[in-house]
Amino acid sequence: MGRLQKILIPLLGLVLAFWFYSARDTFKPEMLRGKRVIVTGASTGIGEQIAYHLARMGSHILITARTEAKLQNVVRRCLELGAASARFVSGTMEDTAFAQHVVREAQTSLGGLDMLILNHVGASYFGFFDGDVEHVRKLLEINFLSYVAMTTSALPMLKESEGSIVVVSSMAGKVGFPFTVPYSATKFALDGFFSSLRQEFAIKSINVSITLCILGFIDTERAVRAAAEVLRERPAPRDECALEILKGAALRRRELYYRYSSTRLPLLLRDCAAELLDYLVRSRYR
Ligand code: NAP
Repeated sequence: MGRLQKILIPLLGLVLAFWFYSARDTFKPEMLRGKRVIVTGASTGIGEQIAYHLARMGSHILITARTEAKLQNVVRRCLELGAASARFVSGTMEDTAFAQHVVREAQTSLGGLDMLILNHVGASYFGFFDGDVEHVRKLLEINFLSYVAMTTSALPMLKESEGSIVVVSSMAGKVGFPFTVPYSATKFALDGFFSSLRQEFAIKSINVSITLCILGFIDTERAVRAAAEVLRERPAPRDECALEILKGAALRRRELYYRYSSTRLPLLLRDCAAELLDYLVRSRYR
């Protein structure tokens, strides 16, 4: 009997744990129906696809980027796909005042906010670090400081809705990548800021989730133009990537890895075989 108990109790624990985690893992599109969402960098690429998925799920969408003509088209398509509402604000995230303005627009037009999806990325070069400090500063403003500014402005609304912050980052923000030094620096900064902020939310019992998305190579025009010739791997589809980001966000995951095989699995080597990981990263390039 004693031996049976020793086996049965842990087994029962395992079954319960499996049930708990698998129940927690079920994503349903209804989770995002009627939610008020800001998506930055949504004129093209992954952000555009996120907007379309949200539209199909019936969310209220506020998108932003610099190119007004593209944003108009994305808004039109979102309405065709079934968005509860869709609107845009155009401007540059080089200016933190603009980042704050977008959040105020959500307050005025949507009356609050459930999800802030920070996805935009400024243009950078693909090549050896050229020593241009001003470029690093500008990229930090676009890729990092505007994320901080939007989060700070949106926090009162997100606290009220017990909402979510989604930060789109990269493998290049978890492990050193050659040829994208300024870009990698901005992505590492995001991890530091948002992982620390998550700790403070836990201490203060603030029920706002932070999902950091660690992406591999995705088939957006910009990425393919910059890296398809030199990277050995094939890019993953941007519409699937966008959907995985939304699933991770709706399930309030702390981190999301896409694709898992080319991001999470290699990162397992980071603590035990960092030099091997560095070598594997370098060997991705032709
Ligand atoms: P993308 O196609 O180049 O789109 C970037 C978006 O940001 C566009 O909507 C662009 O619109 C906007 N943007 C650029 N500069 C801006 C500025 N100064 N102010 C405001 N908006 C600006 O990029 P993506 O490939 O979809 O990447 C999306 C996210 O995924 C990024 O955070 C990126 O780091 C991450 N990621 C991508 C890959 C990949 O392989 N594609 C891999 C890892 C991580 P406008 O030009 O109209 O402003």
